[in-house]
Amino acid sequence: MPADSTLIVAGEERLEKNQFQSLAERSKHEDFLRRAVDLLVERVVFGRSSRTSKVVEWAVPEEIKSAIDLTPRDSPLSHDELLKVIADVARYSVNTGHPYFVNQLFSSVDPYGLIGQWLTDALNPSVYTYEVAPVFTLMEEEVLREMRSIVGWPEGAGDGIFCPGGSIANGYAISCARHYFYPDTKSKGVYAVPKLVLFTSELAHYSTKKLATFMGIGSDNCVMVNCDERGKMDIEDLELKINEAIESGATPFLVTATAGTTVFGAFDPLVAISGLCKKYNLWFHVDAAWGGGALMSRKHRHLLAGIELADSVTWNPHKLLAAPQQCSTFLMRHKNVLKDGHSCEAKYLFQKDKFYDTSYDTGDKHIQCGRRADVLKFWFMWKAKGSEGFEMHIDKLFDNAKYFFDHIRQREGFELVIDKPECTNVLFWYVPPCLRGRENEPDYKERLHKVAPKLKERMIKEGSMMVTYQPQGNLVNFFRIVFQSSALDHKDMVYFANEFERLGKDIVV
Ligand SMILES: *Cc1c(COP(=O)(O)O)cnc(C)c1O
Repeated sequence: MPADSTLIVAGEERLEKNQFQSLAERSKHEDFLRRAVDLLVERVVFGRSSRTSKVVEWAVPEEIKSAIDLTPRDSPLSHDELLKVIADVARYSVNTGHPYFVNQLFSSVDPYGLIGQWLTDALNPSVYTYEVAPVFTLMEEEVLREMRSIVGWPEGAGDGIFCPGGSIANGYAISCARHYFYPDTKSKGVYAVPKLVLFTSELAHYSTKKLATFMGIGSDNCVMVNCDERGKMDIEDLELKINEAIESGATPFLVTATAGTTVFGAFDPLVAISGLCKKYNLWFHVDAAWGGGALMSRKHRHLLAGIELADSVTWNPHKLLAAPQQCSTFLMRHKNVLKDGHSCEAKYLFQKDKFYDTSYDTGDKHIQCGRRADVLKFWFMWKAKGSEGFEMHIDKLFDNAKYFFDHIRQREGFELVIDKPECTNVLFWYVPPCLRGRENEPDYKERLHKVAPKLKERMIKEGSMMVTYQPQGNLVNFFRIVFQSSALDHKDMVYFANEFERLGKDIVV
């Protein structure tokens, strides 16, 4: 009997009681599981994340369809065939754990996070009641409490939940703010309230607008505030727009500021925004989905100065802190609003006359019913590294970003979009030789706009790295490289710059 046999013992007990499942079947399943896990560790976790392997094996849809039989069939596959399926699925999937996957705001594979995720799946809980998920219920409360204390709220204050993504967390902010000011909406709906308006910056994540739409507030009533040249919310424009809304007969109720914008990595001026929220009696939400991790670093947490003034905060550990997808939290300073605003008291699940303290049945404050225990992987990482480990991780990311920035600043062919990035996003144009020295020609921007998609095509087809690009306002297509894997070092920073040059130097636009 292996030492780590808790799961297997639990399985054995079940097997004894289950007359249809013989021990022979158990050994068959066990053999399959062990081979599959070996394959995952070899091929997926390690085999594909070495620097010499490809980030992506690009294939057009027809190729993938012919490489993997995607159609469910009537007859079962053998274990050998299933193992081949696993290998094929991995082969054509993007290797987001590869150090050179710097395309998105999540990346890398943390071994402790991964095991936490696997343990979650092996236990297959659903965190709605203490009865079904005792450990996870307590673990969630503990982790959320600690995160609130890192935000800087007084001990014992507040509430929080794990959410399926930062977008949903931003939606909870809208819902909680509305419920806080207009609790009648819970039963009477949008008919019971004045015309509500909320504010966020033009560079904020699109989820605030999307969730305002979803909640019946309407996208036109999600007012976009201008940003300055560094991408931070312009506080004068915010006040102007609040007043415009009031004059038009609407009722402002919420400002969503961003701590680490998705593209620019900018931190809105939280203290000043909080001041306006107090002046006009508005809920102050901070979307720190991306930048929240910086709170764990003594060196960088000043970026979020004022976050402790917020009513609520979105913070995604799956972003800067590199927890596996998904791991998102919604934290708030107020108690009970989540529960009062969302509870439905389904009698079949949340029986009030249970034999234990049913205040531990926390599921009713969520809008979900069944829910994954996203806490475990993050908690397990936290155990493995300690807060100190997270701090070192964050400091390394910012150090890498600065190194990369300083490197390309003085390198020919690179032009920076903003000269003082605040987070670990670095934005730049790669200017191929055919365009150098032509900045003053009338079609320069139009031509530069075409470079990024061409370079991206080469990058993906070679699979040597993945870096995203986008236009923004009147800025033509530029690259955004994002660092949140502390497995990278300065040599990798030079690799990225060299790769841009290698892939891009003969591009003609
Ligand atoms: C990524 C991001 C979100 C959305 O989070 P998901 O988990 O992808 O839904 C929200 N806000 C900001 C600033 C983000 O960067």
